[in-house]
Amino acid sequence: MSERLAKLAEIPVGELRGVGSRRSVALAALGVSSVLDLLMHYPRRYDDRTAMSCIAGLVEGGDVSVRAVVRHCRSRQLRGRRSMVEAVLDDASGPQLTVTFFNQPWRARQLAEGVVVVVHGRIQTFRHGVQMTNPRLDVVAADQRDGAAELGPTAGAGTGAAASSGRNAGRQTGRIVPVYPQSEKAGIASYEIAELVEQALRLADELGALTDPLSDARREALDLVGRAEAFHEIHVPSSDSARLRARRRLAFDELWRLQVALVMRKRAATAEARGIRHDSGARLVETFLDGLPFTLTSAQLHALEEIRRDLESPRPMHRLLQGDVGAGKTVVALATLLAAVGGGCQGAFMVPTEVLAEQHALAATRLLSGLTVADDSGRGRERPVSVALLTSRTAAAERERVTAGLHSGTIDVVVGTHALLTDDVRFSRLGVVVVDEQHRFGVDQRAALREKGAHGHDPDLLVMTATPIPRTAAMTVYGDLDSTVLEGLPPGRTPVETHWVVDLAGERAVWEHVCREVASGHQAYVVCPLVRSDDEPADVDVDPDADSDADADSDPGTDPDAGGAARQLHGAVEERERLACGELASCRIGLLHGQLRPSEKAEVMAAFRSGALDVLVATTVVEVGVDVANATVMVVEDADRFGIAQLHQLRGRVGRGSDASVCYLLAPEYGDTPAARRLRALEASTDGFELAEVDLQLRGEGTVLGARQQGRNDLRLASLATDGDLVEPARRLAESVLDRDPGLVRHPLFAEELRLFVGDEEAAYLFRS
Ligand code: ADP
Ligand code: MG
Repeated sequence: MSERLAKLAEIPVGELRGVGSRRSVALAALGVSSVLDLLMHYPRRYDDRTAMSCIAGLVEGGDVSVRAVVRHCRSRQLRGRRSMVEAVLDDASGPQLTVTFFNQPWRARQLAEGVVVVVHGRIQTFRHGVQMTNPRLDVVAADQRDGAAELGPTAGAGTGAAASSGRNAGRQTGRIVPVYPQSEKAGIASYEIAELVEQALRLADELGALTDPLSDARREALDLVGRAEAFHEIHVPSSDSARLRARRRLAFDELWRLQVALVMRKRAATAEARGIRHDSGARLVETFLDGLPFTLTSAQLHALEEIRRDLESPRPMHRLLQGDVGAGKTVVALATLLAAVGGGCQGAFMVPTEVLAEQHALAATRLLSGLTVADDSGRGRERPVSVALLTSRTAAAERERVTAGLHSGTIDVVVGTHALLTDDVRFSRLGVVVVDEQHRFGVDQRAALREKGAHGHDPDLLVMTATPIPRTAAMTVYGDLDSTVLEGLPPGRTPVETHWVVDLAGERAVWEHVCREVASGHQAYVVCPLVRSDDEPADVDVDPDADSDADADSDPGTDPDAGGAARQLHGAVEERERLACGELASCRIGLLHGQLRPSEKAEVMAAFRSGALDVLVATTVVEVGVDVANATVMVVEDADRFGIAQLHQLRGRVGRGSDASVCYLLAPEYGDTPAARRLRALEASTDGFELAEVDLQLRGEGTVLGARQQGRNDLRLASLATDGDLVEPARRLAESVLDRDPGLVRHPLFAEELRLFVGDEEAAYLFRS
C-alpha cells in the first residue's frame, strides 16, 4: 500500500473534476500527469491582488489593479496598418473603465463580453471617464455575466469562503494569485490550473497524503512549517511571508531527499564494494616526490596523507579533491596514480579535453621519467614506469598498442579522455582512477570506469574539479564523495593583476603591454570566443536559467546581455591575422583551436612551450591545464561572453611562475548587467572559492549540478544560492537517520518517498541490500 505522496502519484489528473481530454493533453505538455505532479507544478510568480481598487475611486496618475468584467469590446483599424482594441470594464462600483490596446488585434478575441479580467496599469482621465493604455491583463475567469456582484475589492478577501463558493466567483480577488508556468503556450490558462490545484489540495487533505514525514520536534528545530500547510500556502498564499515559509519547507524536502540518496549511495559504494589495499606503493611515491624540483606545500602533503589512508584501506576510495587554479592538483593526482603502480596495479587519469590529456600525458611522462617498477619476471628485475596517451584521435596503430599494453599490464599509467570508457579498453589490473572533470563527467561514466577494475575489485577513485565550487554545492553535487580541499597556492606566486578594458584607447595600451612583455622574453595568450567570427556563437555557459516561458501578459523581457549578444564576436582565425599585420606585427604568433588536427595542435603547443612562439591566439581550448610558466599576459576578447569559472581558469594560465602577470578582460560596458558583475568580480578577487560563491549567487546552481542531477528529484524550488543554509541541516538529517537505520527499515515513509523521487534504477541500487 502506498502512503502519502506516493498515493497522489498513483492518481491520474484525469480523475479530477473538469479534466477532459483537452486539459489532459495540455497538462501532459507541462509534464503533469498525476495529482502529485500537479501539486508539484509550482507557480512561477504571484500577482498580489490583496490591494484591488474600485473603478469609482480611481484618480489620474495612480498605478492600480482593478478586477472587473468586460461589458463590451470593439476593435478598429487605424491609419498605417495600426489597430486598436478598446474594451469597457465594469466592477459594479459605478463608473466604467476603458482599456485600450494598440496593435494587439488578438485582444478582441480574448476580451469577449462577460470575461473577468484583472488589469494593472496607470490611470489616465479622458473626457468623462478613466482609462488605461496597454495595461498588463490577466483573464481570471470565463463568462461571469451574472457574477458582477462578486467583483470589486472586498469579495472573498483571502478566506476559505472564496474556495467554497461557486466556480470562479471571487476566487482570484483580494488574494495573492499564483501564475503557473507556460500555461498559455500549453493551451491551459493559469486560472484553470489554479482551480485544479485547489481541487487536488482538497483531495490530498482527504487522503491524508500531505501528512508530515518530519516529526514536530525536528520541524521546530529547523523552523519549518508543516508539509500540508506548505503545499497550501505555495499554491494559495494567504500572505507573502506565508508563501515564502512554504517555499522554504518544500525546498527543504527536496534537499533532504537528495541528501538521503547521496549518503545512501556513498555508504552503499563502500559497504559492498571490495577495494584494493595499496600498501606497497609508498616507496615509489617517495622516490617520485623526492625527485620533484620543488617541495610539496603543507596542503599537498595533507591531501596526500588523506588519500594514502584511503588507498591503504580495504574499502575503495571515493574522494573529491578541490583546489584553486594553480594549487598543484596535478602532482597530487600523479602521486595517487603512482601509489597504485608501486603496488603492482595500473592507474588511469581521465580528463575532459584532448589538449588537457596531451598536456597531462606530457607532464606525467616528464615527471615519472627515471622511475622504475618491478617487472613481471618475478626475479626482482625493474623496468621503467610506462605512460600512455589515449584519446578518440589516437591513431589506430597507436591505439592498438595502448589497448594491448593496458590489457597485458605493460602500460602502468594511461592518460585519456572519454575514449578510456569504450569497451575495447580493458585493464590488466586497474587500481586507481583519477577524474579531472570540470563537471563534465556524469555519474554513469564514472561508474563505467570503476567497472573496469582489477578482478572484480573496485578501483580507488579520486575526482578533481578544475575550479573550486562552493561548499553547499559540493555537498549537493558531490555529496556521495569524501572531500579534500587543497588550500592556498604554492609559494612564490605573484597574484595576477586583472583589468577590465572597455574602450579602444585601453585596448591599444593592452597590445603595447603585450609587445613589451614579449620584448623582455615573456609570452602571452589571446583568447577569443569563436574559431571564426562568422561561426554561430556557442552557448556561453552563463545564465542557464534564463526564463523564456514568460506568459502572454507579463512585461516584455529585456535581455540584460542583449548588447553583448548582438555584437560581432572575435574569431581566433581572423584575430590572429589582424594582430599579425597590426598591433603585434613584431611578435611570432601561433593559432590554437579545436578544429585543428591533433598533430597540428600538438605542434603549436610544443612551439609555444619551447618559446618558438611569443603569442598564442586561441579559443578556450587553453582554458584548462595548459602550463607555460613563462607566459605573463592573458588577453580575453569579448570577456563578457564567458562565465566566471571559465575566466578564472583562463586567468590561471598566467601567474604560474614568479614573474608578475596581468590579465586583460576586453568587453564593452553596458551598465549593471550580469556580465558587468562577473567582470567586476574577476577584477576584485583572485580567490577561486570566493569567485565560486559570487558565481553561484549570480547564476544559480544550474551548471554546477549539471549531469549529476537525475530523476524526479531535480531541485525545482531549492536553490543553492538562496537556500544554502538548508543544505547542511538536510545533510545532518540524512546522516542521523541513516546512522540508526541504514536501510530505512524503520522509516518506511522516508524510504517510500525516496523511491518515489530518485527513479527506479537508482532506488534499486540504494535499496539493494
Ligand atoms: P592545478 O591545481 O590548477 O591543476 P597544477 O597542478 O597545474 O595546478 O600546478 C600549477 C603549477 O604549480 C605547475 O607548474 C606545478 O608544477 C607547480 N607546482 C605544483 N606544486 C608546487 C609546489 N609545491 N611548489 C612549487 N610549484 C608547484
Ligand atoms: Mg590542473
